[in-house]
Amino acid sequence: MVVLEVVVVRSTIEVMFPDAKGRDGLISRYDPDRDDGPWLQHYDIDLQDSDRMLLDEETLRNLEVFRTLRGERGQGTLVHHLDRTATPAGRRLLERRLAEPLTDLDALASWHLGVAGALDDRDWREQVRRLLKGVGDLDRGAVRAASGRIGPAALRQLGESLRAAGEAVAAVRGGGHEAHPAAAWVRGTPDPSPLATRLLATLAEQPPATMRPGEVVRPGVSAQLDAATAVASDTRGFLAALQARERERTGIATLKIGYNRVFGYYYEISNKHLDKVPADFSQKQTLVNAARFRTEELTTAEQTILDAEECMGRLEAEIFASLLADVTAGLEAIRELSARVAEIDLLFAFAELAERHRYARPVCDDSLILDIVEGRHPVVEQLLEGEFIPNDALLDGDARQVLLLTGPNMGGKSTYLRQVALLVLMAQAGSFVPAARARIGVADRIFTRVGAGDNVARGQSTFYAEMSETARILHQMSRRSLVVLDEVGRGTSTYDGLSLAWAITEFLHHDDGPRPRTIFATHYHELTALDRTLPRLVNLRLEVREWQGSIIFLHAVKPGCSDKSYGIHVARLAGVPEPVLRRAEELLALFSSEDARTLAPERLPGAPGFSLAADRPAAASRQLSLFSDGERDALDALRDLDLEGISPMDAFLWLARIKKQL
Ligand code: ATP
Repeated sequence: MVVLEVVVVRSTIEVMFPDAKGRDGLISRYDPDRDDGPWLQHYDIDLQDSDRMLLDEETLRNLEVFRTLRGERGQGTLVHHLDRTATPAGRRLLERRLAEPLTDLDALASWHLGVAGALDDRDWREQVRRLLKGVGDLDRGAVRAASGRIGPAALRQLGESLRAAGEAVAAVRGGGHEAHPAAAWVRGTPDPSPLATRLLATLAEQPPATMRPGEVVRPGVSAQLDAATAVASDTRGFLAALQARERERTGIATLKIGYNRVFGYYYEISNKHLDKVPADFSQKQTLVNAARFRTEELTTAEQTILDAEECMGRLEAEIFASLLADVTAGLEAIRELSARVAEIDLLFAFAELAERHRYARPVCDDSLILDIVEGRHPVVEQLLEGEFIPNDALLDGDARQVLLLTGPNMGGKSTYLRQVALLVLMAQAGSFVPAARARIGVADRIFTRVGAGDNVARGQSTFYAEMSETARILHQMSRRSLVVLDEVGRGTSTYDGLSLAWAITEFLHHDDGPRPRTIFATHYHELTALDRTLPRLVNLRLEVREWQGSIIFLHAVKPGCSDKSYGIHVARLAGVPEPVLRRAEELLALFSSEDARTLAPERLPGAPGFSLAADRPAAASRQLSLFSDGERDALDALRDLDLEGISPMDAFLWLARIKKQL
C-alpha cells in the first residue's frame, strides 16, 4: 500500500492511503491523547463517492464467487450457479457485478424493479431471451473488425449479432413495456439495423473463414464483380468443352484437364497413349504412368481465369474493407449497444434465475439493518441432495451488531456465514435472493475470514495468513461493512487463539470503533460469556438433537449458545479408529470436569486396549502436562495452605521458599 500523505492535525495523526481503486480515500487516524491509546487506531473508508462495493481477493475466494476453495472454476462457484445469461457480454457483466456489486440505492431499486417486471411477464421474457441467444460477442467482433483481424465468416456473425441485438432492444422497448426500467435504459441506444443490413446484404450467406475469391460477396452487390465472376465461370465452362474437343481430336478418351499450383492448367495423358499426342502439345512434366502437356489455347484460357480471379479478389477485398470501415465508424455505437444488451441480458437472466429457484425481491436501503427471513445458501441449496434448511439472520448494527455463532462441527456454521454474505452480495449485484424476504441496508464492503486453506502454497504459514487477513479487516472495516469471521484464532494454541478471538470480538464491538455488522462463528464456547459485557453482541447456536447415542444435525440457527462441539462424533463419522475415539471420549470427560492444566498424565486413568499411553509414558507426559513436577508441587502446596492460620511473616517466608523452589 502506498502512503500518500501523513498530516499531523493538532495532536491527531492522519495518514492517507489510496483505496482499492487508487483514490485517496482511506484515512488512518491515531489520536495519542485518547486514553485508549492505540486501541482506537482504526481506519475509516469514506465511500460516499463510491457507487461500487469493494470486495477484496480474499473475500471473493472465501465466498467461492469465481473459484471454489480448491481453485476450480464451474460447479460449486457462485457465478456458475447464478449464470443464466445468453450473451458473452451479459456473462461478463455478471462477473463484474459479482466482483463489484452496486451501492447506489437508485440503481439497485431500478434493477430489482426491472427483475420483478421481467419475472412477472414470462412471454415477454422468453421472447427477449430468445432474441438475445442470437447475439454473439459484439465487443470482440467489433474490435476485431476495426483492427482488420476478422474473416468473412466472423464478420457475417457480427452482422447477425447486430440484427439480433437490434431486435432484442426493440422487444424490450415496445409491446407495452415502456414503463419498465430496461425500456428506459435502452432508450436512445444506437439502432444497429442499418449496419446489420449492410453486412448481411453484402456478405455471402455462408462465407469462408478466410478470404477466398468468389465466395465472400453476394451476387448483385457490384456489377464489376459480377462481370469478373461470370468471366471466370464461363472460362471454366470453356475448359470443360475444350477437354471434350481435344479428346475427340486426339482419340484419347482418358485425356483430362487438371490444375496444380506450380504448372497451372495442363492436359494429362497416360503413357500408353503417348504416341497419339499431337504436335502442338508441349510436354511440361513427366510422371511414372503419365505425362502433362500444355497448348497455347489452354494457356490463354488459364490467363483469362487468373485475370478474372485476381479482379474478383481485388473487388471483394475492396468491398470487405469498406464493410470494415463501416464497422470501425460505428465502433462506439456498437460498444454502447453491447453495454445495453449486457444489462438487458443480465436483468432477464436474474428474472429467470429468480423464477427457477424461487428467489425473493430484496429491499435495499441506507439503514444498517440486515434482515433475512428464511435465507438459503444459493450454491449449497442447489448441490445438496437432501432438503436445505432455511435460516433467518437479523443484524442492525446496534442492538444486534455482533452475532456470535457457536455449534457443533458440521452443524452448518460456515454455510450460514457465507449464506448471509452471499445474499448481501447478490442483492447488491441486482439479483433477487434465496430467501422468503430480505431487507438489506447496503454494505460498503464485505470482509470474510473463512479458512486459510491454500496459503501454504503462497509461502505463508496458515496462522500468519489468518492473522494478516484479520489485521486487514480490522484496519479497513467501516460502520457500513459486513464482517464475516469463521473460527478466527483456530490456527494457534487454544489459549492464544481464545485470547485473540476474545480481543478481536471486543474490538469489533468497541463503542468508539467502526462497529461493523459482524457474524463470528467460533468453537471457543468461552466467548459466549461476552454477551454479559458486550450489549450489542447476540449469541446464536446451530441446533442439534441427541438421539439414541448419536446426534442429528438440524442445521437450524437458534438464539443461545451451544456448549458442545461433538468433534468426536464427527471423527467417528469420518472413520477414525474406535479405540482412538473411546480414549478421546474418556479424556474429554476428564478435561471437561477439571482444569486441563492441572491434569498430570499419571492422574489420568490408563487406556485399556489403547497402548500409546502405557508404552510411551514419557511422550504422553510431555504432551499432556502443561506444568513441571516442581510447579505441580508448588500448586499443591498453595492449595493446602491454611491462610487463616498463617502470620504475615510466615506467609512471606512461605512465598520466598516457593519462589526459590520454582
Ligand atoms: P465445522 O465447524 O466442522 O467447520 P460447520 O459448522 O462450519 O462445520 P458446515 O461446513 O457449514 O458446518 O456444514 C456442514 C454440512 O452441513 C455441509 O456440507 C452442508 O451440506 C450441510 N448443511 C449446512 N447447512 C445446512 C442447511 N441449512 N441445510 C441443510 N444442510 C446444511
